[in-house]
Amino acid sequence: MATADITVMGAGVFGLSVAYACARRGAVVRVIDPHGVAAGASGGLVGALAPHVPENWNDKKAFQFESLIMAEAFWADVAALSGQNVGYARSGRLQPLADARAVDLAQARAESAATLWQGKASWDVIPVTDAPWMPPSPSGMVVHDTLSALIHPRRATCALADAVVALGGEVLANGRVEGKVVWATGWRGMQEIGGNGVKGQAALLDFNAAGQPQLFADALHIIPHGDGTVAIGSTSEREFDDPHCTDDALEDVLARAYAAFPALESAPVLERWAGVRPRSKSRAPVLGVHPERTGEFIANGGFKIGFGMAPKVGAVMADLILDGDDQIPDGFRA
Ligand SMILES: Cc1cc2nc3c(=O)[nH]c(=O)nc-3n(C[C@H](O)[C@H](O)[C@H](O)COP(=O)(O)OP(=O)(O)OC[C@H]3O[C@@H](n4cnc5c(N)ncnc54)[C@H](O)[C@@H]3O)c2cc1C
Repeated sequence: MATADITVMGAGVFGLSVAYACARRGAVVRVIDPHGVAAGASGGLVGALAPHVPENWNDKKAFQFESLIMAEAFWADVAALSGQNVGYARSGRLQPLADARAVDLAQARAESAATLWQGKASWDVIPVTDAPWMPPSPSGMVVHDTLSALIHPRRATCALADAVVALGGEVLANGRVEGKVVWATGWRGMQEIGGNGVKGQAALLDFNAAGQPQLFADALHIIPHGDGTVAIGSTSEREFDDPHCTDDALEDVLARAYAAFPALESAPVLERWAGVRPRSKSRAPVLGVHPERTGEFIANGGFKIGFGMAPKVGAVMADLILDGDDQIPDGFRA
């Protein structure tokens, strides 16, 4: 066993992205997770890589935008190294619009997207058609954006672990902590520094809409994975007793999804799943120097967009850990 330059605690998408970025730059990495790869929030089903609305631009939105643009090459490399299908597709998104006011707002956002998205993606307001995957829309109009992508979270996280190993790293249940240490321990780690966990429940349906855009309707993500399933999420629960159980709250989500897109109603439910999102007080990621473990690092707080943020999180953490080059936005520091 080679001596590790970097030990990452936690084999979710944040810890593995940091390990992968460091290994890509030649470091010897070790990832330790007693619960196994994708045991936490990263073992889920949904996988929307969707942007914030293109207005009121800030560091977090800019960081997420850059990460979404990086994602295609990042996940293609992970797929090639691991030999696994991560389910990435930049297939866009459709959002129904409730009324004339929502249409006006969406049209204003089309103008801001043209600038803020730098010509790399578009946000258009278009009329509904009778295409089978077109969601009903009370206004007769929908937003179609070409920035949104999707991924299969559980498979992508496992592929990322295999990519780390393919680069000479180790992913272990137990092992010696050596070199620089990064804590990426999800919601439990957030609790240690004053953050918390927000439980989410999601479901996977047997419905083939592969290649279609994802839908965002009634605040739900409806994600047509490439394997002939559709994921639906999620609940958002600050209070919970059991992090892993699913219950009536998920049945409410399913009922809302069927109302938003009735074609799904007869699709068998293949899986019901729950996990806990790591949330910081500010809702932004927490990256950089660990606030309580002297000389160690933290990568946490992915909250609802951890997969969207992961490629850039890995890159800025590798810059900091390997080169001392701190490109982390101020609002992301612990
Ligand atoms: C229902 C639901 C839907 C979601 N949908 C989306 C979505 O559509 N798009 C999106 O981008 N994001 C989504 N998210 C959020 C995303 O899943 C998270 O932001 C992301 O998975 C967080 O990754 P992480 O690596 O920080 O945490 P985790 O995946 O939770 O990983 C933390 C790991 O640390 C390990 N660990 C804990 N303590 C220790 C220790 N002491 N030592 C070593 N290891 C330890 C745990 O076992 C765990 O494996 C969703 C989350 C949920 C729950």
